[in-house]
Amino acid sequence: MRKPRKTIRVLITAGPTREYIDPVRYLSNDSSGRMGFALAQAAVRMGYKVALIAGPVSLPTPDGVKRIDVVSAPEMRRAVLAHAPKADVIIMAAAVSDWRPAKTSLKKIKRTNGRTDERTLLLKETPDILAELGRKKRPGQILVGFALETESLEKNAREKLARKKCDWIVANTASAIGSKSSRAILLSRDGRRIPLPRMPKDNLAFTILSYIL
Ligand code: C5P
Repeated sequence: MRKPRKTIRVLITAGPTREYIDPVRYLSNDSSGRMGFALAQAAVRMGYKVALIAGPVSLPTPDGVKRIDVVSAPEMRRAVLAHAPKADVIIMAAAVSDWRPAKTSLKKIKRTNGRTDERTLLLKETPDILAELGRKKRPGQILVGFALETESLEKNAREKLARKKCDWIVANTASAIGSKSSRAILLSRDGRRIPLPRMPKDNLAFTILSYIL
């Protein structure tokens, strides 16, 4: 018998992360968090138990959703890894920053008033949370990633699906950023390819969940 929906735990990440250079400056991604929040709202309305790990966004928490706020990629990783073992479904909709400063200055970095034209910022890669979840995935757990690409969308999305050991990947173009609507292609590990037309992110969220759940 299938488990009742209210016992199925869905873990969703949303929004960007911020990687601080100094106390007032950071590297980030252009992400409103709308897709992840729409997924959380849709999942709770469908009757699932939902936890939402959100980067810094100004969106209200959907009713019935447990929200955990984080700022940086390492913080998001810690929060995700703490919740992942109990999750039946994990959807990584967050636009995690791929790079962070090698060092964060404790003081605001001052301008030099023309004495230096160029300055080097050393970066290091952030942990790939989705790839780590793929390595630690327990049998039966469903792992869903997002791929936002400006070129070779499907090819890159398929490569991510395999490399990060996801069950599904939602491929969308950069036109989705900040927009209230989006168009996506769902690709599954077992070879399904489901192109979805442009629609509001709320509808897209329901459609995505009805395929993966
Ligand atoms: O490799 P790329 O960043 O394009 O992959 C996108 C997918 O990987 C998204 O689902 C995103 O949430 C996840 N990701 C992650 N940790 C990172 C970078 C991306 O979990 N450091």
